[in-house]
Amino acid sequence: MDAEQLREYGHKMVDFIADYYKNIENFPVLSQVQPGYLRELLPDSAPVHPESLQDVLDDVQSKILPGVTHWQSPDYFAYFPSNSSVAGFLGEMLSAGINMVGFSWITSPAATELEMIVLDWLAKALKLPDEFLSTGQGGGVIQGTASEAVLVVLLAARDQVLIRAGKDAIGKLVVYSSDQNHSSLQKACKIAGIHPENFRVLKTDSSTDYALSPESLSGAISQDISSGLIPFFLGATVGTTSSTAVDPLPELGKISNSNGLWFHIDAAYAGSACVCPEYRHCINGVEGANSFNMNAHKWFLTNFDCSALWVKDRSALIQSLSTNPEFLKNKASQDNKVVDYKDWQIPLGRRFRSLKLWMVLRLYGLENLQAYIRNHIELARKFEELVNLDPRFEVAAPRRFSLVCFRLLSAENNVERANQLNRELLEAVNSTGELFISHTVLSETYILRFAVGAPLTEERHVVEAWKTLQEKASFLLSKLIE
Ligand code: PLP
Repeated sequence: MDAEQLREYGHKMVDFIADYYKNIENFPVLSQVQPGYLRELLPDSAPVHPESLQDVLDDVQSKILPGVTHWQSPDYFAYFPSNSSVAGFLGEMLSAGINMVGFSWITSPAATELEMIVLDWLAKALKLPDEFLSTGQGGGVIQGTASEAVLVVLLAARDQVLIRAGKDAIGKLVVYSSDQNHSSLQKACKIAGIHPENFRVLKTDSSTDYALSPESLSGAISQDISSGLIPFFLGATVGTTSSTAVDPLPELGKISNSNGLWFHIDAAYAGSACVCPEYRHCINGVEGANSFNMNAHKWFLTNFDCSALWVKDRSALIQSLSTNPEFLKNKASQDNKVVDYKDWQIPLGRRFRSLKLWMVLRLYGLENLQAYIRNHIELARKFEELVNLDPRFEVAAPRRFSLVCFRLLSAENNVERANQLNRELLEAVNSTGELFISHTVLSETYILRFAVGAPLTEERHVVEAWKTLQEKASFLLSKLIE
């Protein structure tokens, strides 16, 4: 490592990235390449002799960027956002520069301690109950993703039950969630050895705006108990992936607590909005939860990856995930005075991710982060208004945050034809490269999703996107008439 070379190349790279952002609107948002395109453009094997940085950057420009879908484009409205920001970027850069591996406190005390402090800050900003703070029995940890977060708490919950019920009881353990829960819980169940038949996916519909009904949960639990099974885990969501439904946390918490279930709340996307006082009510009931998760890398200006998980009882995680090999033993850990985050996660190694969240919180301040969220919600409200003004379309689910679910209506009352029409509309707009939206299916109806949340998006981008959608819709509808 030559510091002067880093300075020279680093400046070049920052310039390259700054230019990328400056020109990002010129790229097709959704990459238009065909599968396998890159193999034809790159050599078969690694170079024997070093190449220049300029050669590599030229290849990035001409060969890599065409195969990139530009998540940071202001015209990106698909899935949920995955924010980057100058603050997040600088934190990421610093983390790469220091490049330590902070699995135990001793391997970099600042990494562990900053993570504890920053997650306490964020917990306070979200007004999480004090039990989630690191000053008590609980605390926060940064996982890579919400999928890892739900896996580690599922493992902790499973092992707590198995200590009481005996290892052979694993086949009797039952997990509950709604049919709107993210698929990461299903994957976690597979990894945790939960019998596939004991993963209860409770049906939702438009009568509850796709939120889990407490009655269906308590009914399922009673039935399972009477069949000799052991209910042990509930995954609830604040801001479901399809339509941002909010499960009724207070009621679900009561049912979980009275039946001894571990209650996990996945607020991967919508958690960010809860730093605004007017949205905090969406997580009322979090007092009853054992664990709570939000992805700072989605809608909180923190570059991927940074998924914040809080638990009330850190010993449950540690009991499940701790190992203590000789080669990692050290005085601080053995004296039990420190947190060793290796025992709160799947891998051993871990990056200094708290730096970027710390930079985001400090360089923006909560005031600006709240304004940022509010602006996106306002832009989504504007888009919803535009949809409502065009009688050919309908808003297909209530808008709660910055996602609008909508669809083009077809003249005939035929669900499959209407679905096909909307599939074609999605294809048509995304192939323009001018915007990128995604879809979902709710009650067998194909629905388009317009998720505002890219940091560079302004009102003009939303208005332009709507114009493109209208134009393509007019074209498709005129073809139906011909
Ligand atoms: N939970 C919800 C509600 C989500 O919307 C998503 C992804 O969009 C996830 C979990 C999975 O997130 P991750 O990629 O961090 O595992």
